[in-house]
Amino acid sequence: MDKKKNSNIHCTVKQCEHNMETEDYCTLDAVRIGTHESNPTVPECTDCNSFVKRSNCCG
Ligand code: SF4
Repeated sequence: MDKKKNSNIHCTVKQCEHNMETEDYCTLDAVRIGTHESNPTVPECTDCNSFVKRSNCCG
């Protein structure tokens, strides 16, 4: 798989199809971030909406 690291997007979510895996970076040109809260107050309230579960991961 020819994945190119985007050094502007640091990401440790190895379970994501778009993660570089060998390094903690995303391989997309851009990602979409959102929230599942009506009034987000901490980082945990936000989500990467570009996340796609890796096909060979997580059962
Ligand atoms: S799409 Fe989001 S969760 Fe997936 S590697 Fe990129 S930044 Fe991380």
